[in-house]
Amino acid sequence: MSHTAISVQSCFNVFEPTIATIDRVVDESATVKSFFFKGTINYEPGQFIMVWIPGMDEKPFSISYHSEESFGITVACRGNFTRRLHQMNAGEIVGIRGPLGRPFTIRKGNACLIGGGIGMASLGVLVDRLKRGLIIQGAKTASDILYSDREGFNEMLVYTEDGSAATRGLVTDVLESIYKRFGVMTLYVCGPEAMTHTVFEFAQRNGLSMQASLERYMKCGIGLCGHCSCDGLRICMEGPVLERETLETLTEFGRFARLKDGRRVTIEEYRKTGGE
Ligand SMILES: Cc1cc2nc3c(=O)[nH]c(=O)nc-3n(C[C@H](O)[C@H](O)[C@H](O)COP(=O)(O)OP(=O)(O)OC[C@H]3O[C@@H](n4cnc5c(N)ncnc54)[C@H](O)[C@@H]3O)c2cc1C
Repeated sequence: MSHTAISVQSCFNVFEPTIATIDRVVDESATVKSFFFKGTINYEPGQFIMVWIPGMDEKPFSISYHSEESFGITVACRGNFTRRLHQMNAGEIVGIRGPLGRPFTIRKGNACLIGGGIGMASLGVLVDRLKRGLIIQGAKTASDILYSDREGFNEMLVYTEDGSAATRGLVTDVLESIYKRFGVMTLYVCGPEAMTHTVFEFAQRNGLSMQASLERYMKCGIGLCGHCSCDGLRICMEGPVLERETLETLTEFGRFARLKDGRRVTIEEYRKTGGE
C-alpha cells in the first residue's frame, strides 16, 4: 500500500477511502485530540468524512479545521475505534472518504453557535467562516473544554455542568438572556440530542432560524444502507445538518435513534449504551 499524503481535492472520493498520512496530532484536552492532514478537501462546514482504520472499521467525523493547505478532525476517545486513533502518531495512515452530507447554510445577520461536548468539532470551521457571532460551549467539566486557545474562540461563553470552570450550568440556561440582548439571530447547533432539542424548542417558540447537526449511527455514509434514518430521512445524506422546519416534521428527533444492530431505542438509552 502506498503512503501518499493528501495533496489535491480530486484525491477524494465518497465511495472508497483514499489513503492519507497523519501529519500532526494535537492534544485538545485530556480525552480529545485533533489529527491533521496535509492538502485540501472541498469541504463546507458541517459536512463529515468517514475515517477508515485498515483492519478495524470506518467511522464518521466532522472536519474541525480547514485551510488551503491542511484539514483536521477533532476526536473524543470513546470506544475501540477512537482509542486506536488516539494511539496513532504523525506518519501513520488512515483512509478518508468524503466530504459527505449536507452542510450548514450561512445566513446573514446575527449568529449564535451552540456546541455541547465534542459537538464543538462540527462548529469549528463554521466559526472560521462566519467570523462573527456568539459562541456558546457546554462541557461536563473544566478539562473537557475545547478550543479555548483557538483563534476566533476568544470571546466564547463557556458553561460547565459541575461548575469547575467558567459558569456553572447548561448552555440552554442562557438562551433567553442572549435573545433579549441580541434579538433575532440564526442558531447553529451541534451537541447531545437533549441539548439540541431544547434549543430547537426555544427557536420554535421564538420563531428563530435554526440549523442543527444530528448524530445517528452511520455505516455507509452515502444513503445506501438507511441505518442512520430518522423518520425515513437519511441523516448521512439529507443531514447531518437540518433546518428547524425539517426538524419540526421529525417524530424521532429528540426521542429515538437506532443502535448499531438496528434496534430503535430511546435517545437516553442510545447514549447510555454507547450506540452498541
Ligand atoms: C455526522 C457525524 C459526525 C461526527 N463527528 C465527530 C467528531 O467530529 N468527533 C468525534 O469525536 N466524534 C464524532 N462523531 C461520533 C463518532 O463517529 C463516534 O464517536 C465514533 O464512531 C466512536 O467509535 P468508537 O468505536 O470509538 O466508540 P463506540 O464504543 O463504538 O461508540 C461510542 C459512541 O459513538 C457513537 N458511534 C459509534 N460508531 C458510530 C458510527 N458509525 N456512527 C455514528 N456514531 C457512532 C455511538 O453511538 C456511541 O454513542 C460523529 C458522528 C456523526 C454521525
